[in-house]
Amino acid sequence: MFSDKFAGKELIFNGIPVSPGIAIGTVFVVHLDELAVTDNKIDEDEVEGEIEKFREALRQTGEELKKVKETLAEDMGDEHARIMDTHLMILADNMMIKDTEKCIKTEKANAAYALGKVLKKTFESFARMDDQYLSERAEDIHDVKRRIVRNLLGQTQEGLKELRRKAVVVAKNLTPSDTVGFDRKYVEAFVSDIGGSTSHAAIIARSHGIPAVVGLGNFTHNVRPNDNIIVDGITGQVVLRPEKNTIKLYENAREKFKEMEKELLTLKDYPAITLDERKFELSGNVETLDEIDDVVSHGAKGIGLFRTEYFFITSPSPPGEETQYRYYRDVVKQIAPESVIIRTLDVGGDKIADWIGNIEEANPFMGWRGIRFTLSRKDIFRSQLRAIYRASAHGNVRIMFPMISVMEEVLTAKQICNEVKEDLLKERYKIDEDVKIGVMIETPSAVILARHIAKEVDFFSIGSNDLVQYTMAVDRGNSRISYLYDPLHPVIIRSIRDTVKAAREEGIKVGLCGEMAVSEGALGMLPLIGMGLDEISAPSYLIPEIKKIIRSVTFDETRSLVRKILRRATASEVRELLCNFIIEKRPELKKFIPKVSLK
Ligand code: PEP
Ligand code: MG
Repeated sequence: MFSDKFAGKELIFNGIPVSPGIAIGTVFVVHLDELAVTDNKIDEDEVEGEIEKFREALRQTGEELKKVKETLAEDMGDEHARIMDTHLMILADNMMIKDTEKCIKTEKANAAYALGKVLKKTFESFARMDDQYLSERAEDIHDVKRRIVRNLLGQTQEGLKELRRKAVVVAKNLTPSDTVGFDRKYVEAFVSDIGGSTSHAAIIARSHGIPAVVGLGNFTHNVRPNDNIIVDGITGQVVLRPEKNTIKLYENAREKFKEMEKELLTLKDYPAITLDERKFELSGNVETLDEIDDVVSHGAKGIGLFRTEYFFITSPSPPGEETQYRYYRDVVKQIAPESVIIRTLDVGGDKIADWIGNIEEANPFMGWRGIRFTLSRKDIFRSQLRAIYRASAHGNVRIMFPMISVMEEVLTAKQICNEVKEDLLKERYKIDEDVKIGVMIETPSAVILARHIAKEVDFFSIGSNDLVQYTMAVDRGNSRISYLYDPLHPVIIRSIRDTVKAAREEGIKVGLCGEMAVSEGALGMLPLIGMGLDEISAPSYLIPEIKKIIRSVTFDETRSLVRKILRRATASEVRELLCNFIIEKRPELKKFIPKVSLK
């Protein structure tokens, strides 16, 4: 299955570091069966052993299926459990077993490849038949195959939520449905072939303080379950099957990183204020309820971005008003008296809920996303707004709309808010009648329209993740073109500066909740300080670092840096300016410039 060419040898890969920290552990592969099955031949004297391995995998799979059947019987009754009989029949199919063993013997194919080859013919014949019953059987065969392959490779669990040992999670890509229900305490790091600094896995990793490296190309072709691995989320280096010396080197680096984290945490109760006393509000970005404690323990004040889509994506159908109300109420109560900015549903792009169905868009990030989706599914929008307004009675809530690109969207969304409010008051619900309404500024048209939009809303929150994507016309999850995905490009700084100016002129607050503040340590933060935003919302684990940077500089000097940046035409000039500033004026911040490789 996996390339054995390099078995045993230390291999070094370089990807995009997206969440700092160092992990040393063993590999757990997500979607094992989807990884490239290579036709690695075995030797004549390995045939017997390979067949034995295959039979053992069949036996293990049989036990696994029987257990699933037992659990189903307990939970849902014998009738339901009988659906597993088809799986067991497929597993015991003589022809499948004989043909696979024959293929191992005559073609010297490895067992996983041989099995795939034998079943391919079955799938092809099923695919030609337009029959619901048969297509379900094809699914069953796929499931059995997946289980056998997994057992052949010595990995007993399948999905991330079943992971029950500490491991470094490796995947081609990690989508929201892959990460649903995962247990943070077992995940030591994330590593993936594709993705960029603001793709789903990166956001989730940062929110949970898990080191992560993405965009590693064909990394999964080289990795096997339980391989030893080192992940350096600071430099983007991943070492597979590391030698002893390398492990030592990284153990030291890991120790140093942990000490630095501990030291930064001592700032928890200090204000985020510059040396010349310009104050910033720091709040946390949150996707799920289990992250709320981290917001408080890392010294953030409130939640500056509550992404509601994860709740929707993990539900089999859009959650109703009552379910949502209880969910938001828990968030609001937990974070009170601080505030929470609840962002209305931002599905679309790479955040697809199964219940939306197959919408097949050629350009999902440019398509039916965020406010565009909710304004065309007003039933969903209204029930979400009703739930949020009802939750507002329990604390301090603000509402924010994502993906605004034209003024009409703002006006319509506000109109619906007013209608919802009126309805709730008529129905005698207790609500906060003065919930502040804001929008995300994350498209170039919203930047250009900012002056007009500012007259209609109470606050702006700049979504740098999408602002970079749409301004630079670069897919935020595509590692092949990630060189264009650069929040430090002067064009992005100018857009943020223009947005801040528009907000100031209309007297509204402006914050930033994109990941720019943490994308490159001090390099991303310095211009944000200099542009004088009111609030920065970021993954909680990185709040102490942001605070340290704010407390180490003056607003004045960062403002003059911004003026210089605006006269430059390339991101490399901007980086040089910022690095020089740190080296010459604030060498204590050098440790917050992403380092080059340790080796
Ligand atoms: C952003 O675009 O910067 C943002 C915060 O939203 P998301 O990453 O959820 O698209
Ligand atoms: Mg966005």
